[in-house]
Amino acid sequence: MNNAYLSLGSNIGNRLEHLQQAVELLNEHPSIKVLKVSSVYETEPVGLTEQAKFLNIVVNLETTLEATELLSACQSIENKLGRMRKIRWGPRTVDLDILLYNEEHIQLEHLIIPHIRMQERAFVLVPLVEINSEVKNPITGRLYHEEPAIKEDGVNLWKKIVRIEEFLQ
Ligand code: ATP
Ligand code: MG
Ligand code: MG
Repeated sequence: MNNAYLSLGSNIGNRLEHLQQAVELLNEHPSIKVLKVSSVYETEPVGLTEQAKFLNIVVNLETTLEATELLSACQSIENKLGRMRKIRWGPRTVDLDILLYNEEHIQLEHLIIPHIRMQERAFVLVPLVEINSEVKNPITGRLYHEEPAIKEDGVNLWKKIVRIEEFLQ
């Protein structure tokens, strides 16, 4: 069994519903079991800043899928929920990125794990550390809660989630 962390974000339409639908679709996958869902954070867009605020969560799951198969599953959920892929870092109904997969370091053309920008992103680090404060960068051995970027502004608690059932309707 493999253990993975994903980052999910949405900044179009009913953002919470998009995140909920994505988590439900993950959990309905026969080879994926969602173990934990973070609280929902409202976050300022990074990269392309002239767009609506995001809602972001991190989920922890277990899966028998290989990392590349998990990426395909994420992309099919993005497509199902109608993501528009027009602008890089632009608005999207839902973005699902793989942050960590076991303690593996994967460098394929279309898949890099740990996610290459995760340690710079408070919107990833804050919900990740909320669900597991002990999680470490498998390459450097550094705890993610010690990354300086975690303290940056622009990440605000929007909906506290205590139990996963609050998310899976
Ligand atoms: P960012 O990666 O900066 O968060 P993004 O999520 O907006 O940007 P996407 O358009 O969702 O980028 O994905 C671009 C490509 O990134 C995908 O086609 C995918 O192959 C690749 N990719 C590489 N590593 C990962 C990963 N760990 N998780 C998801 N996609 C990845
Ligand atoms: Mg992304
Ligand atoms: Mg992505």
